[in-house]
Amino acid sequence: TERHDVLQIKDDWPGHSLDLFTYPEHYHEDMESVYIPHGVIMNRIERLAHYVKDDFGDDGIMVLCVLKGGYKFCSDLVEFIKVLGRNSNKYTETRVEFIRLKSYLNDQSTEDLHIIGSRDLSFLRGKSVLIVEAIVDTGKTMKALLQHVGTFEPKMVKVAGLLVKRVPNMAQHLTDYVGFEIPNRFVVGYALDYNEYFRDLNHICVISKTGKMKYKI
Ligand code: 5GP
Repeated sequence: TERHDVLQIKDDWPGHSLDLFTYPEHYHEDMESVYIPHGVIMNRIERLAHYVKDDFGDDGIMVLCVLKGGYKFCSDLVEFIKVLGRNSNKYTETRVEFIRLKSYLNDQSTEDLHIIGSRDLSFLRGKSVLIVEAIVDTGKTMKALLQHVGTFEPKMVKVAGLLVKRVPNMAQHLTDYVGFEIPNRFVVGYALDYNEYFRDLNHICVISKTGKMKYKI
């Protein structure tokens, strides 16, 4: 497949000072910086929507949203795809299904895929599928999910990852649509959590030492 341009955030990018933006008061001491402002996230997703619409063409899109982290990205991406349809009078049918994956806390990620709820994805058979995931780190989760999805014989499968981490042996080739390639730092916000906190933050931010301690389990 054709590779789209990737927006790279460099290793030495410190983020924007918190004072320059608005954010929930209850996280005042818990973040170091605004790494990617909400507006920039939205502009980038609009661009990804163009790529997706071009690739899927006249096929309807069966969107498979990976919960919980992927819900904001999924909802905004689908919304932009619908706007493109309205503005060009060439609508793309979208249907959204959800899958919840478990990633273990204070543990190594494994090759096993832990699906919470039904493992039966037979609604994917013969469909053009778009997997929507907030962040791809080592890629183990995505690799396992792709394998599982493949067993249901979809017509085609593409992957959208809002963030892809720049790590050794990184998983670039797994992700067809990349929002941002970021350094190997732990980020939160825009539905990404740290022990369930920070999902209610619109920007993507770097958590502070205080925040890490405060919400540690
Ligand atoms: P992978 O299997 O690619 O190593 O890990 C993917 C999963 O790890 C993601 O679905 C996400 O739940 C979690 N993860 C990895 N990096 C981060 C991060 O920087 N912030 C948050 N909130 N979750 C992350």
